[in-house]
Amino acid sequence: MAPGGAAKLAVVGTGNVGASFAYAAVLWGLASEIVLVDANTRRAEGEAMDLLHAVPFTKAVRVRAGAIEDCAGAAVTVVAAGAAQRPGETRLDLIRKNAAIFEQLIPPLARANPDGIILVATNPVDALSYHAWRLSGLPSERVFGSGTILDTARFRALLAEHFDVDPRSVHAFIVGEHGDSEVPVWSMANIAGMSLEAFAAANGRPHDQAALDEIFVHTRDAAYEIIERKGSTHYAVAAGLLRIVEAILRDQRTVLSVSSRIDPSLGLGDVFLSLPAIVGRAGVERVLHLPLAADELAGLRRSAAVLRDALGGIDHAATSARS
Ligand code: NAD
Repeated sequence: MAPGGAAKLAVVGTGNVGASFAYAAVLWGLASEIVLVDANTRRAEGEAMDLLHAVPFTKAVRVRAGAIEDCAGAAVTVVAAGAAQRPGETRLDLIRKNAAIFEQLIPPLARANPDGIILVATNPVDALSYHAWRLSGLPSERVFGSGTILDTARFRALLAEHFDVDPRSVHAFIVGEHGDSEVPVWSMANIAGMSLEAFAAANGRPHDQAALDEIFVHTRDAAYEIIERKGSTHYAVAAGLLRIVEAILRDQRTVLSVSSRIDPSLGLGDVFLSLPAIVGRAGVERVLHLPLAADELAGLRRSAAVLRDALGGIDHAATSARS
């Protein structure tokens, strides 16, 4: 961390997601320096120039394009490099392409910046966070993914519209895979500590389970719905990445649903997936083991099985140095 509490951030992959995150970080004034790295160096340079020209309207920050070695000293490196979903493609379809990209970029990144945190956004984010951890040789609390922070935000936003309250007053998590097998934790969803059913009753409204089920479907399928319309999703994930980075830099110990290594004693296997976790300066400081309802636990187990299968699609020879 630089003097005065300001920090250096790095962004590897400055396409829609990486550039949106960098823009959010500039506006939010979180960093003293932001380095942008992309295989397409002209793209990174163009983004750096454009962002730098916003700085007269924001807090002071140095923005520049660089190479992987320039990530040295970054408190957090956000990795959003790789192919994105095309219409109809699942996140898991991307695995081979993006695993190969990680094999090129994660080892030199970890060598350049052995003390930093790597925050992965590239999809499929759970499998690639695991891959990044293995490739990096860094402790697992310092290599993790944005996971279901985005799905949780979508869920809260849609529930908030339904109940007509501020999404920040809705407490509800999506756990498991950031993808088709993700699981809504209905048993603990609440507004002001009241179950959703009690909140509806207190507001003179009937409990409408069909509408809630529909909200989950729109949460889970949001990426498909958005990609069909505008080709990519990037603003909400950028805001989620910003929230994670803020929790790290300001050591906030915020509970966020990020994708991290799950204690094998939970019986889910050696996978990365999302459960609410305490995020602070050290990275993922503790994963919370929620007392899930039986059907939710069964859903989480199915999601972990999907992720274990997905890891089979990665060339583990590339990571054998780590094991
Ligand atoms: P994009 O195509 O706009 O940008 C990807 C960038 O990665 C490109 O600029 C490309 O040049 C760069 N790149 C490719 N290989 C590289 C390498 N070896 N080193 C450095 N840069 C490299 O894609 P996007 O829309 O920004 O999406 C990026 C990733 O984020 C995708 O995998 C997408 O699925 C994922 N995503 C994740 C979430 C989430 O919630 N985790 C949400 C949206 C998108």
